[in-house]
Amino acid sequence: MPKISCSVNNCHYWSSGNVCDASQILVTSDSMSKSQAQTVDAPMAGSISATPVNSSAETCCKTFVAKGSAQKTDDGVTRQ
Ligand code: SF4
Repeated sequence: MPKISCSVNNCHYWSSGNVCDASQILVTSDSMSKSQAQTVDAPMAGSISATPVNSSAETCCKTFVAKGSAQKTDDGVTRQ
């Protein structure tokens, strides 16, 4: 996977130097992220509908899960 830089340092997958250490991530629209369960994430990306947006401000990383959250294993994503 290409290197992903990320400054969201309270994410379970964040690593020193602002690096994402997730095995895979799902970038999607804010509206899709808000409407879908935590379990909907990168492992099922091939089966979800496209979510066009008008600007970068309308996108987000759906793989985010807070450090220490009990939901960190719900999406099937792992640390590399
Ligand atoms: S999973 Fe998303 S929010 Fe978390 S470190 Fe990676 S890119 Fe950032």
